[in-house]
Amino acid sequence: MSARQEAGTATAHRVVILGAGYAGLAAAIQLAARVKRREDVQVTLVNAQERFTERMRLHMTATGQRLAELSVPELLEGTGVQFVRGWVTAVDADAKTVRIDDDRVLPYDTLVYGLGGVADTSAVPGAEDHAYTLSSAQDAELLADRLARLGNGTVVVAGSGLTGIESAAEIAERHPELNVVLLGRQEPGAAMTPKARAYLRAALHRLGVQVRAGVEVVKVLPDGVELAGGESIAADAVQWTSGTRISPLAAAAGLAVDERGRIVTDATLRSVSHPEVYAIGDAAAIRQGYGVMHGTCQGGMPTGVHAALSIDRVLKGRQPKPFRFGYYHTPVSLGRGDAVVQFTRPDDSPRRFCLTGRMAVRYKETVTASPWPTYGRMKKMPASGAFWPRGGRFTREAK
Ligand SMILES: Cc1cc2nc3c(=O)[nH]c(=O)nc-3n(C[C@H](O)[C@H](O)[C@H](O)COP(=O)(O)OP(=O)(O)OC[C@H]3O[C@@H](n4cnc5c(N)ncnc54)[C@H](O)[C@@H]3O)c2cc1C
Repeated sequence: MSARQEAGTATAHRVVILGAGYAGLAAAIQLAARVKRREDVQVTLVNAQERFTERMRLHMTATGQRLAELSVPELLEGTGVQFVRGWVTAVDADAKTVRIDDDRVLPYDTLVYGLGGVADTSAVPGAEDHAYTLSSAQDAELLADRLARLGNGTVVVAGSGLTGIESAAEIAERHPELNVVLLGRQEPGAAMTPKARAYLRAALHRLGVQVRAGVEVVKVLPDGVELAGGESIAADAVQWTSGTRISPLAAAAGLAVDERGRIVTDATLRSVSHPEVYAIGDAAAIRQGYGVMHGTCQGGMPTGVHAALSIDRVLKGRQPKPFRFGYYHTPVSLGRGDAVVQFTRPDDSPRRFCLTGRMAVRYKETVTASPWPTYGRMKKMPASGAFWPRGGRFTREAK
């Protein structure tokens, strides 16, 4: 802890940010840059690990690819943010405290909740016990270890959403000896244009991924999955990607949450039940004109920046502004050599234009690699992080 923070501890306004994911880091760096000259504000960031988890690359981790070592404490150097490594076990919204590793207690005046989400293994019996997930880097490493030891055999990827598609393609490319089966209710790329969807389907076919759409996995077994209707598919490993769920911490704290446990926010990203709590990223239920935002990095980073701007405004005695965001793309990797990028309208519906092949690979890699340098830029020029598509007429009614 720096001398400035120690000196300020007794009287400072304590902002505690939970989660150093894409959203939490954006909030911490943006806020630190805004309050740099203030002795009376202390910013603390809590995260389970020192290493930044590049969640958008966890399907690469799951196939044994080594990622860059990105250190959160190193990134925070010179910002004045105090980093606390630990596992958040409880939030007491009345006492305004956070419990860490069950033995430390951090008081706050303002809380920013950005603990993200995990694969919803509670959705069907057996998934929690028998399925692998990409919920954390450790979970992805467990899957990598299993795949490396299989030799040959069948891997079922349950869930045909974007994480399922990226995982199935990556596994098939890295482990051509394995039989990869992608199962889901919907056709892969169902929300894309017919052209992008057809490209995606052909790429999965080329990689040898067997796609079965229109099926529902109702049980995960130690040696396979059971489908609605009674059919069983034998598998040596099952990866569960169907749906996400949020940590029960927020609901347990008495914060107003939606049916998936996400903190319900007002237009400025404050909890509707506890205005001193801001919710960001995948853990927040943020309503826009087109509906409640779904979890993405493209939307998550702006929520972190906006929460920081709102806190800075409130600390200066001003009103926070409404948050507005419109989607602009859905980039999907298909192994390391292929990809599809579907451009979208602000409400996430597909535009006619899409990229495929090498151009799409370059685009997707640029997007995936961009958060870390963005944080570095924000440290020096906070305004550089405050640009994102506001969604035009699609988000105006959220004002
Ligand atoms: C394979 C894959 C590919 C993806 N590709 C894209 C893409 O191309 N574009 C896109 O926009 N989005 C993509 N996403 C979605 C994107 O990764 C998420 O929306 C984003 O990570 C959400 O950011 P976040 O900060 O809310 O949460 P996270 O990034 O999950 O960060 C949460 C942080 O909180 C920490 N944490 C959680 N619980 C605790 C606890 N109790 N105590 C302490 N620390 C805790 C975690 O360790 C983590 O560091 C992808 C996701 C996956 C899995």
